[in-house]
Amino acid sequence: MINVNQLTKNFGQLQILKGIDLEIGKGEVVVLIGPSGSGKSTFLRCLNLLEVPTSGEIRFEGQLITDKNYDINKAREKMGMVFQHFNLFPHKSVMENILLAPVKVKKKNKAEAEQHAMELLKTVGLEAKKDAYPSQLSGGQKQRIAIARALAMEPHVMLFDEPTSALDPEMVGEVLDVMKSLAEKGMTMVIVTHEMGFAREVGDRILFMDGGVILEQGSPEELFGSPKQERTRDFLGKVL
Ligand code: ADP
Ligand code: MG
Repeated sequence: MINVNQLTKNFGQLQILKGIDLEIGKGEVVVLIGPSGSGKSTFLRCLNLLEVPTSGEIRFEGQLITDKNYDINKAREKMGMVFQHFNLFPHKSVMENILLAPVKVKKKNKAEAEQHAMELLKTVGLEAKKDAYPSQLSGGQKQRIAIARALAMEPHVMLFDEPTSALDPEMVGEVLDVMKSLAEKGMTMVIVTHEMGFAREVGDRILFMDGGVILEQGSPEELFGSPKQERTRDFLGKVL
């Protein structure tokens, strides 16, 4: 589904991503871990072209999306992204937040989009909040709405950048549960997280990123059970 070939990203003189190769299969759940500043967010943002890669190639469903002539918006519509901070529109209701992109960008019929939105709200357990405003929701609820909003575009892959890092601890579980059920339904997902228990349980593959490269990767058993690199062991020693 995604094929990354020698991806680099510079900010000014600094090379932040130093040549990343990665293949992600349909339905795979890939979890990206690593120290702060290692380039995890930059990598996710390059995947959906929120950042323009400096060099290298990204293919998405066979299309070379890093090609100059490729319409970036086409790829973005098929890649849902959920951030640490929920970025809901504060002056729009939950329903309006969810409907915005399908109706404006995908030109979906409003009644149909609304029906789909209700199904998504059910999926995240928040049907009752459809007319609420973001300020009336808890952090965990906002993040679940942000997930529903991303799903409303019917993405083929979901990218998550530390979706639970800004939440009070008691709300982390409800968001992880939604992500877990998405994974079980076969959604292709790339997740940056510090929730190692979740990574171990839900991830098909764990990537350890350090200094702008994928230093080591493997199944959860391999990576958590017998990390090969000193730096991976060091990192896991601090977070586990
Ligand atoms: P992580 O998500 O692993 O913590 P990031 O991808 O956010 O790491 O950042 C990697 C490095 O790139 C950091 O040193 C950060 O300061 C730098 N960086 C990220 N975004 C920018 C930017 N827009 N301009 C300049 N430097 C940036
Ligand atoms: Mg980050």
